[in-house]
Amino acid sequence: MSTSHLMGVYNRAPLEVDRGRGMRLWAKDGTEYLDCVSGISTNALGHAHPVLVKAVTDQAEKLWHVSNIFRIPDQEKLADMLCEHSFADVVFFTNSGTEAVECAIKTARKYHHHAGNPERIDIYGFDGSFHGRTYGAINAAANPSYTNGFGPPMEGFHQLTWGDHDALKAAIASPTTAAIIVEPVQGEGGCRAIPEHCLRDLRTLCDQHGVLIIFDEVQCGMGRTGKLWAHEWAGMQPDIMAIAKALGGGFPIGACLASEKAASGMTVGAHGSTFGGNPLAMAVGLAAFGELVKPELIQNVNEIAGYLKQQLHGLKERFPDVIADVRGKGLLIGVKLIPNNRDFMALARDEQHLLIAGGGDNCCRILPPLNITLEEAREAIEKFEGACEVARAQMKAAA
Ligand code: PLP
Repeated sequence: MSTSHLMGVYNRAPLEVDRGRGMRLWAKDGTEYLDCVSGISTNALGHAHPVLVKAVTDQAEKLWHVSNIFRIPDQEKLADMLCEHSFADVVFFTNSGTEAVECAIKTARKYHHHAGNPERIDIYGFDGSFHGRTYGAINAAANPSYTNGFGPPMEGFHQLTWGDHDALKAAIASPTTAAIIVEPVQGEGGCRAIPEHCLRDLRTLCDQHGVLIIFDEVQCGMGRTGKLWAHEWAGMQPDIMAIAKALGGGFPIGACLASEKAASGMTVGAHGSTFGGNPLAMAVGLAAFGELVKPELIQNVNEIAGYLKQQLHGLKERFPDVIADVRGKGLLIGVKLIPNNRDFMALARDEQHLLIAGGGDNCCRILPPLNITLEEAREAIEKFEGACEVARAQMKAAA
């Protein structure tokens, strides 16, 4: 029997993290690591960013929580900022990505109900997607490894196969379809970016049939791909969007953004949250988002992403026995591996003190903070190269 009292739902790395600063993490035994996980795309400004530390400590002395039955000025300010920098007219704040997705799904169904079409309940997601772990979110992504054992599939959720345009067109044309939910760049699924022209076509088709588009930019939004929102690359907009992760720079915050029209059914009592949008979270969110929208940060993402991609393609040439593909967008980088990705992550951690994340399709993900310097990027590449050498040697020894 396990000696831990934690529910055994995580396969945790044998690493006790003690503290962090910028792109560095230190374990309890003092070992230093270069962090290309960033809390899985969450610590977008690095660890212990001084602006965020100040925001959280100042607010902690003033007010933490009051409930949404009162006005929360910073919540209104952050909503204003998000709307000013996006397609959205209204925002609902949550504590996590999956709650933001849940709100997005409810907003879409309620829109059709409110418009006199209660039969329009069907939500279509894509294979390889990840939308979080609530019932709505696991059903929207419909990945069997997350839905198995949790009872029958929820009514009104369907999965489309990536690239099956005929099935997508039929889904959009169905009179019971409410919305399509999609990550413009899949994160957990292995950094697959939807081609930009496909997103534009999706917009046209959905408009023709009155179907709403929900984007899940929980992982790919807020500057990660080299634009503030990943969908900006395609020059189109969703009706509803779920965001979280980087929005709080590591503090738990999520948000569901919507156009006024898409949110027309979300009237008093339709949704709620005790903690969502609390003053402490909003103070940090304001500070973090204020940094994330700075043009110099976005420019840094594009410059460093260009360098990393070029270097990784070079490594792919030199290590064709280790690297099968380099993909993704901006600093949401996926490297499809030939050796098992879990083994590769472990050896990168133990041999090179480089932390990288896993992903679907045997990828590892490189998700550095958005303010990573060129020097840190060089160090990350050196360590990745070292990991490729060890992996090659291990494969040769095993052959
Ligand atoms: N959506 C996407 C695209 C994600 O990557 C994640 C988390 O990894 C979620 C939703 C769920 O977010 P959370 O874990 O904050 O609930």
